[in-house]
Amino acid sequence: MKKSIVVSIAASLMLVTPYVSAEDTLPLKAVNRAGEVIDAALEAYGGTEAIANLNSVVRKSHFTTWATNQSRSPGPPWDQNEQMSFSAIDFENETFVTKNKGSGNGFDFNLSQIIEGEEGWQVNYRGGTVTPIAEPDFNTTTGPFIRVTAPLLVKQLQNRRQTSHWLGEVEFEGRPHDVITLVMEVGPALSLYFDKETHLLSRSERVLPPFGQVDYRFTNYETVDGIPFSKTFKLFVNDEPNIYIDIKATKVNQSIKNHAVVPKDLELVEVAPPPPTEVELQEIKEGVFLVGAGNTYAMFVEMDDHIIAVGGTAGIPDRIKTLREKVKDKPIKYGVMTHHHNDHVLGVPAYQAEDAVVLTVKEHEAVMRAAATDADSLKLQFVKDKYVFDDGNRKLEIIDIGPTPHSKHLLVAWLPEEGILFEADHFPNPTNGRMQPAQGVTKRLAEAIDTMGLDVKFIVGAHSPRIASIDDLRRSLALRPVKLTQISP
Ligand SMILES: [Zn+2]
Repeated sequence: MKKSIVVSIAASLMLVTPYVSAEDTLPLKAVNRAGEVIDAALEAYGGTEAIANLNSVVRKSHFTTWATNQSRSPGPPWDQNEQMSFSAIDFENETFVTKNKGSGNGFDFNLSQIIEGEEGWQVNYRGGTVTPIAEPDFNTTTGPFIRVTAPLLVKQLQNRRQTSHWLGEVEFEGRPHDVITLVMEVGPALSLYFDKETHLLSRSERVLPPFGQVDYRFTNYETVDGIPFSKTFKLFVNDEPNIYIDIKATKVNQSIKNHAVVPKDLELVEVAPPPPTEVELQEIKEGVFLVGAGNTYAMFVEMDDHIIAVGGTAGIPDRIKTLREKVKDKPIKYGVMTHHHNDHVLGVPAYQAEDAVVLTVKEHEAVMRAAATDADSLKLQFVKDKYVFDDGNRKLEIIDIGPTPHSKHLLVAWLPEEGILFEADHFPNPTNGRMQPAQGVTKRLAEAIDTMGLDVKFIVGAHSPRIASIDDLRRSLALRPVKLTQISP
């Protein structure tokens, strides 16, 4: 029965016209015009064959990055950081190597990632360790490199042209452009701007929650083995500069095997166990709780008739909910915000909803109000150097240890009787307790502890479920960066 219907439809179409010509609908036009733009782009990038045969790309670059809402001060101009970067991709062998060396926010890094088919490794040159990657994913890992390399985006269009739609024609920098979409294996769709005359990619755009509009600019084209590569690249997030890349060298279609060698002289270590995925409550000492999951944690301190919350990272409402299973009725009267970085003020609306007073420094007032549900009604208490809570039975001190290499002002919470210190972003504390050589921020934290003569026994933080001991801090301070190799292509 079904078969005969299909046959009859086909037969009737045959009677009308010798070829199938659908009505020129908007979607059909979008697909057809995207096809034309892709064909012209392939020509401009050296031809269909050259792009199909473009199997490996090696690039060495200098990055300038802007720490938007993550600088030492709460507003612009944002801190500018530099790093050297090296990337090598080989599609046929599903091999990808990246190296990044630089510093920012009071942290130094010298890292490499190697993916070779089913195997992968994280190399930490600073810490002197190699860690196997449990489930290496070539597509996800190579995405950021492909998105900043125009011929590789054109190669994606060649392989995934069925995902592409023409969105329209726009003026960009005084020149007419066709805008078409590309859906990569992973992530939200990209909109690509091709110059109508040169058929080269000038710009790409995508919307990436929670960041917003991410805008990529390809400039200063230069031909390498017959394929045009942009030598400079700019990335904007919500119209603010985020990354500028200055490409120092590009090589194509050479073996990248020698770059994918895992260093033998570094220590092979197991990956740290993942943090809990469900919110967990740990009672560090009676009435002092560390509550969180993933990489965000808050400390709740029980006072005689209320609770003081410390930390404002993601998921505060869930952490309060879990706390309520243990401490049912005492109201949260205060919420302490460690600093102004955008991932540490997410808790402001949650504390406002609890009708709590938010503790911060005067310099961070505007950021806190901007983060609130209602800026005007947010109750604030400013900390000048130190603010002490004391109900006669328990003492909690909120101390500004700034300036640090991470933030001009940084509030830590200190329980002198219990010897517990809560900090954010200054003491990396991996779940397996394997300490790395102390970063600049950690040295500053240790210095503050010494200067104030705090008898610290435990350190807990905004990004770890682990309760560290003072010995962990000492061990970190005693370690020296193992090896500072140069990035060599
Ligand atoms: Zn921070």
